Amino acid sequence: MLKKILLIAGSIIIILLIAALLLGPGMIDRSMNTVTLPPPYTVSPRAQQLYDSLEFIADLHSDALLWKRNLLERHDYGSEDIPRMLQARLALQAFTIVTKTPRGINFDKNTDETDQIRLLYMLQARPIGSWFSLTERALVQCRALFEFARESNGAFRVIRSQKDLRAYLRERESNKNITAGFLGIEGMHALDGELENVDVLYNAGVRMMAPVHFFDNKVGCSAHGVSHGGLTDFGAQVIRRMQEKNMIVDIAHSSEKLIDDILRITTKPVITSHTGVKGTCDNVRNLSDKHLKGIAATGGLIGIAFFKQAVCGTTAKSTAEAIRYTADLVGIEHVALGSDFDGAIQAHFDVTGLPLLVEELLNLGMSPQDIALVMGENVKRFMLDNLPEE
Ligand SMILES: [Zn+2]
Repeated sequence: MLKKILLIAGSIIIILLIAALLLGPGMIDRSMNTVTLPPPYTVSPRAQQLYDSLEFIADLHSDALLWKRNLLERHDYGSEDIPRMLQARLALQAFTIVTKTPRGINFDKNTDETDQIRLLYMLQARPIGSWFSLTERALVQCRALFEFARESNGAFRVIRSQKDLRAYLRERESNKNITAGFLGIEGMHALDGELENVDVLYNAGVRMMAPVHFFDNKVGCSAHGVSHGGLTDFGAQVIRRMQEKNMIVDIAHSSEKLIDDILRITTKPVITSHTGVKGTCDNVRNLSDKHLKGIAATGGLIGIAFFKQAVCGTTAKSTAEAIRYTADLVGIEHVALGSDFDGAIQAHFDVTGLPLLVEELLNLGMSPQDIALVMGENVKRFMLDNLPEE
């Protein structure tokens, strides 16, 4: 009798475990990545016409690779996949890799002691090596993006160089039904503390890296960390190595002192891939006027995000206001989109809702030419100038 009970209990546990592995990742993805306003979206004929006329729409930040979502298929949750990118006519998306986040994540104070992504990777049945190495974790997501490109029948490609981008732009002249991405990393703890891993990640296709994410690491201090210090000696070596290789430095999530240190030593334009601005939404995450000007002075880009904590509002209007503020402060040529799609946030809308933003920018009196720059032309120009040549 006892044997029978144990057998039944054992079977139930195994069935539950299989169910958790099969259904768990999708359920987590669905619950973590939501939108305030679900599709479909409608805008005025004027806004739609302008949107349809845009040649190059680009976004500097999406964490869609973290969730093991099959990006080749359309989903009714999250903000993005390749079918929806094509529907939105998005030309270029930065796929930014998250490798470690703390339990109880918050904007004020986090340590590196806990590791939620390890649990997520285990549940997603990712390779065992990636449970213990953050570099491996990053490489798993890099490989996934290239795999999507291979399986997309030409609809999607990964951009690694100016040459790739030029070839893609030529192809788009006759076929707009294609889309592309490039790889970034959120937090250089993904280097596992080794300078040589800059090269490993570069060789895996990574072209942009942010020093920190939610906690302080060997490179420097986070705006959401404990010590609020700046760049370490190791961090300075990493930045130098990256810039030798024409990898883009992304100061998102950096402490104020870290931003100061990077702006002081950088030899190339730097960007912030997803941010809000203190001028319209004053919190620890958002950039001061001084830092916005500092980034612009390097020739860099400021990607404005699409969620409440960044722009103090839940609609396209609040993102449009932050864009307008930044453009008025530093010049329109330095402003871009940095949605933070699928970054465990509630986005104002999914990628197919980008026309809503055009509508709000028009409402703020922005010219069609300036809107085209913000919606993607600035990113195109920046990438053509700053990616490695080959
Ligand atoms: Zn982020």
